[in-house]
Amino acid sequence: MLDRYSIAFLLIFSWHIVELNASAGDANPHYRDCVKQCEETGCAGHRCFANCKFSGDDLTHGPWYKQEPLYLQWKKWDCQSDCRYFCMVDIEKEKELNNGVPVKYHGKWPFRRIYGMQEPASVAFSVLNLAAHFHGWVSFFILLYYKMPLKDGKKPYYEYVNLWHTYALLSMNCWFWSAVFHSRDVDLTEKLDYSSAVALLGYSLILAILRSFNVRDEATRVMISAPLIAFVATHILFINFYKLDYGWNMKVCVGMAVTQLIIWAVWGGVSRHPSRWKLWLVVFAGGLAMLLELYDFPPYEGLLDAHALWHATTIPLTYIWWSFIRDDAEFRTSNGVKKAK
Ligand SMILES: [Zn+2]
Repeated sequence: MLDRYSIAFLLIFSWHIVELNASAGDANPHYRDCVKQCEETGCAGHRCFANCKFSGDDLTHGPWYKQEPLYLQWKKWDCQSDCRYFCMVDIEKEKELNNGVPVKYHGKWPFRRIYGMQEPASVAFSVLNLAAHFHGWVSFFILLYYKMPLKDGKKPYYEYVNLWHTYALLSMNCWFWSAVFHSRDVDLTEKLDYSSAVALLGYSLILAILRSFNVRDEATRVMISAPLIAFVATHILFINFYKLDYGWNMKVCVGMAVTQLIIWAVWGGVSRHPSRWKLWLVVFAGGLAMLLELYDFPPYEGLLDAHALWHATTIPLTYIWWSFIRDDAEFRTSNGVKKAK
């Protein structure tokens, strides 16, 4: 049985694992000394940080009424983040003068902060992705309700309307948290970003199956989605409350992404969809863009890395994708109107 001491030991041990992060940059003793000194004095080189000036004892453990106030915990956390950043900047600058190559710190490349944003390029591209989805969604909405004929009761002929509305909301939610996460990487923002990406990927896989197999009956839709929703929900609970296993999460995400790309590509050919070239273009370019995630290079000018480029490529693809969705709505509506006559 675990007694109090082994629990305490495990807690300290696991905390150190999280703190280590094992990158070449933070293993450098020069960097470690700089951060340690900075956290004690509040200054890195000639820069000093107001957030490092806190008083009181370290009371992060124990009963809640004995713990230090939340704002002090935040200040300490800000202090550590500032110290790590400016120590890294100084060391990297010195290295650049001696023609050294950049290395990772705590699992991340040395990015240049802009307005306090950790990865400004990824933030900008995430916001543009969000805007592209919003634009696509609004144009889809206008086409359906204002430009095309409606059934009695003002309902569109297109049977997949509500599915695409949910898709738009999940996509915008995903890019919102992506922008937040790339602005400031902490445990909470990371989990929110990962969870919303998993939710979107899982949902779009369901959507790909329902659309490509022409599932229009509500009961069949529920039967097909239920096991997938159960799997995605379990996976989200797993990464949030049990263990954020990056390798396993990557496998789940790539698995769901590749499956839906294959479904769309095959369906485009089999169904001889009038806009299948748009499908194929998105599938082909989307597959190529995924390679950017595998080819990891240090950020150009401290700003543009492979991950940011990957986020950039999805912006034009989002435009083409929504254009395909509008084409599909027109195609199905013209069929529906013909049948109704
Ligand atoms: Zn990202």
